[in-house]
Formats: sequence, structure tokens, C-alpha cells
Amino acid sequence: MARQIDVDALTEGVLGGSRSLLARAITLVESQRADHRLAAQDLLSRLQPHAGAARRVGISGVPGVGKSTFIEALGTRLTADGHRVAVLAVDPSSTRTKGSILGDKTRMARLSVDDNAFVRPSPNAGTLGGVARATRETIVLMEAAGFDVVLVETVGVGQSEIAVSEMVDTFLFLTIARTGDALQGIKKGILEIADVVAVNKADGPHEKEARGAAAELRAALRLMTPASESWRPPVLPCSAQTGAGLDDVWAAVEKHRATLDGTGELADRRAAQQVGWMWAMVRDQLMDRLRSDPGVREKLPTLEREVRAGGLPPSVAARTVLDLLG
Ligand code: GDP
Repeated sequence: MARQIDVDALTEGVLGGSRSLLARAITLVESQRADHRLAAQDLLSRLQPHAGAARRVGISGVPGVGKSTFIEALGTRLTADGHRVAVLAVDPSSTRTKGSILGDKTRMARLSVDDNAFVRPSPNAGTLGGVARATRETIVLMEAAGFDVVLVETVGVGQSEIAVSEMVDTFLFLTIARTGDALQGIKKGILEIADVVAVNKADGPHEKEARGAAAELRAALRLMTPASESWRPPVLPCSAQTGAGLDDVWAAVEKHRATLDGTGELADRRAAQQVGWMWAMVRDQLMDRLRSDPGVREKLPTLEREVRAGGLPPSVAARTVLDLLG
């Protein structure tokens, strides 16, 4: 990145469809340096009016379920139909292992070289909060650059699925038939946030098994209270490898969005996401300020020691810390 960040050039580049300037803009929003954050905020303010038009879809599933094969197959179909597809990833493990397993371009060989697609690996932004922030901001950039489908991939671990569900219109849960009980190993929480469920690898000798698993999941979902009164999450068998059922899965994603759009829930969901995002940033920035405040830094070791020793109630120490920030 140039030493002096030219926000004008980045704005024009993103809006004008320059891939290299788009990549630079993403690098800027991923950065945690204070001067980069300021420039990123300027850039985002300018691009925000041009964002919002894409279908935002989260795609989750445990490693090996076929996410990259699915995204490669779905993405190339969508670009063939004239869509422009952005593939982003939220992988908090990348912050620990320094190597992302998601969004690796080699996993999506065709899509990575498709002029109408843009595949971006998970940012390495320290924490899940940092990764989520960078990804949400990258969605704004992608939409301003004219991508009309944004796929956000995540793995089925911990909080990352929740974080992704909070930045998309439709959350697609990818699973496979398992021997025995199909529900085994599927957390109830993931079914609660899934808008569409796809049972992948429904091909060859596994097809029957996948259909059975889909029926079982359908029955399980019927027992749960749906997140929206106007939508019951469908469970669809598909094969990312043969392409069978992929059109049905995408049709369900589109139908979900159209249904929510019709009831006004889509606008409500996005508005609530924006406000949630604002508060997430307030929390992050407040913590940053606390950590970097000289007065707080000076007093903190003593306060922590007293709390640890049991001499000071944590609530009193918390208040002292906040008062120090003034
Ligand atoms: P990810 O870890 O969720 O991204 O899974 P991958 O896309 O890397 O797929 C894991 C393995 O499953 C690979 O060997 C794929 O070739 C295979 N696979 C993916 N989708 C299908 C499918 O629809 N049918 C079959 N039979 N295999 C699949």
C-alpha cells in the first residue's frame, strides 16, 4: 500500500471496477493500523451509498462437507448466468494458526480465475471480532464494486457461524448424511439460524442415504420454532460434485430472500444488523481506548492484583477503570 493513502483513487477504482484497486481497498479495511482505520472509514462512508444491492448468503458446514466444491460449482453457474460473485471467508482459526483453511484460492480453482468472481481468503485480523469487522466492511466494498452475489463461507465451529449469520440475508447450512443418526453431531444452534439446509454428496451410492438424512432433518426442523413466521427452512439434497440439486438450493435461497423482502423482514434484518455492527464497533473501540489509555495502563496491574487477592470487588474495580478513562 502506498505510504499516503489516496482515498479518492480507491473510491474511484472500486466504483470503476478495477480489481487491483478493489484488492487494495480490501487490504486497507483489513488493516488495524490507526491511520489505515481512519482512511478506511472515509472510504466506507463514500462507498456506502453504492452498497446494499447484493444477495448476501452465508455458507457453513464442518470441514470436508464440501463447501469449497459447492461454492466453486454454484459460483461458476451464477457467473455463467451473468452474476458477479464475491466469495469471502470468516475463519477465526486463521488468527491462531496463521494459515486459513477457508477462502484458499486453490480450493476454488475455476472461480479464482473467473473475471466475474472475486475470491478473498479470510482476513487475519486477530480476533473473531476483527475478522467479522473486516468481512462486513469488505461486503460494502464488493457491493460498491458491482458484485451482486456475496457468498460468505465459514466453518462450523464456535461463534463464527453466529457472526456470519449477522452479516447475511440468508444462512445456508451445508451438511452430509451420516451413518446412523443424521442428527448426530449437528448442533441444535446451527439449525436455529439456518434459513436453508442442503444435504451434500447426494450422489452415487450415497444418494439414498442423503435423501433419508434430509427427511430426518426436515422432521427435526418441524419440531423447532422457526425464526420467522413467514419462512420454514427447506432441507434439500444436492451434489456439489455432479451439480444435481444445486439449482434447487439456489432457488430456495432466492425464495427466502424474496419472501423476507415481501414481508419487510429483510429491511428490518439489515437495519438491525447495521445497529448491531455499530455496537460491536463501540465495544471494540472502547476496549482499544482502555488498553491504550496511559492512566488505565498505569493503574491496571494494581487493580488486577487487588481483585485477584480478593481485596477489591470486581464491580468497584470496573468502575474505577471506566472512571480513569473519563
Ligand atoms: P470443505 O472442507 O467443506 O471445503 O470440503 P471440500 O469441498 O474440500 O470437499 C471435501 C471432499 O469431499 C473432497 O474430496 C471433495 O471432492 C468431496 N466432495 C465435495 N462435494 C461432493 C459431492 O457432492 N459428492 C461427493 N461424492 N464428494 C464430494
